[in-house]
Amino acid sequence: MRNVFNFNPGPAVLPEPVLESTSKAVLNFANTGMSIMEVSHRSKEFDALLVETESLVAEVMGIPENYKVLFLQGGASLQFSMVPMNLLVDGKTADYIDTGSWSSKAIKEAQKVGKVNIAASTKGDKYTRIPAPSELKLTPDAVYCHITSNNTIYGSQWQTFPDTGSVPLVADMSSDILSRTFDVSKFGIIYAGAQKNMGPAGVTVVIIRKDLAENAPPNLPTMLQYSTHIENSSTFNTCPVMAIFVVHEVMKWLKEMGGVPEMEKVNNKKAALIYDILDNSSFYRGTVQKDSRSKMNIPFRLPTEDLEAEFLSQANKNNLKGLKGHRSVGGMRASIYNAMPIEGVQKLVDFMADFEKSHK
Ligand SMILES: *Cc1c(COP(=O)(O)O)cnc(C)c1O
Repeated sequence: MRNVFNFNPGPAVLPEPVLESTSKAVLNFANTGMSIMEVSHRSKEFDALLVETESLVAEVMGIPENYKVLFLQGGASLQFSMVPMNLLVDGKTADYIDTGSWSSKAIKEAQKVGKVNIAASTKGDKYTRIPAPSELKLTPDAVYCHITSNNTIYGSQWQTFPDTGSVPLVADMSSDILSRTFDVSKFGIIYAGAQKNMGPAGVTVVIIRKDLAENAPPNLPTMLQYSTHIENSSTFNTCPVMAIFVVHEVMKWLKEMGGVPEMEKVNNKKAALIYDILDNSSFYRGTVQKDSRSKMNIPFRLPTEDLEAEFLSQANKNNLKGLKGHRSVGGMRASIYNAMPIEGVQKLVDFMADFEKSHK
């Protein structure tokens, strides 16, 4: 058992059984006598793993048949470009909802490609909330509407997804995929850099309704076309073999733990432990409006920056790592993804209570 609790926002904590099975595969993958870092991405052993990883993701998320699960590279950041390059064609408009740094980066890339309507932005409120349904100025015939389901930096999260009628939702779910149940069929594309809630850095999971890949301009480079990766089941070129292996192990672990519904229950409990202390203290202060709070990333401040520095230094000494907040919010941020055990959150909350008593 490790004695360190890793609250980093990403790359982030992975389940211990996953680290164990990965360390074995580093030496000998599937009895091939070769490391997972050495096997061919076209070997039958790896192909079996790839097929199984895809079906595990589809199974745990309840992904319908007309979708494809892809394992790509370039991070969520490349999806900021690939989404509009493939979909935002023929002078049409895409709606974007701006709820934080990652949304605004996605918007910047889409604006290089085509027409963007900012359907709502909470920038004026320093991104401390998710917009209400009445604030959304949606385009009736938009090609898609893009949201960031969980704002990793600001610590806000869509509690219910916006109703966009027949316009497909496109969601950057990098920091909350697999953390709660939802209806995938409302979405055209879901993408996530794996390094927060699904695996290590180096692979990006893209879940795409297959018909949406059909309208890409033919002159779009081959590697940037979703259709290339759909037709070749993520092996048009060398896929990130090792990172996909780890995603496979995370999916197996998640299923054994009871799947996404069980994750959601535990995530609710973990978040409640921290929000309880924020709400019942005059020492700690949450930074996000209550109806918009994230269950994955919880930023909080202390009365002074000196106390914040002292908190971080003592937390580190107590093996509570990675709690420094993003510079745009300051203070602390506890990232409590699926793989963070409730014991880690309990230890953090106990530490917070002790720190408050001795520094008030
Ligand atoms: C981390 C993060 C990204 C960036 O992901 P990369 O894989 O580093 O490109 C994008 N969006 C969200 C919501 C994130 O949390």
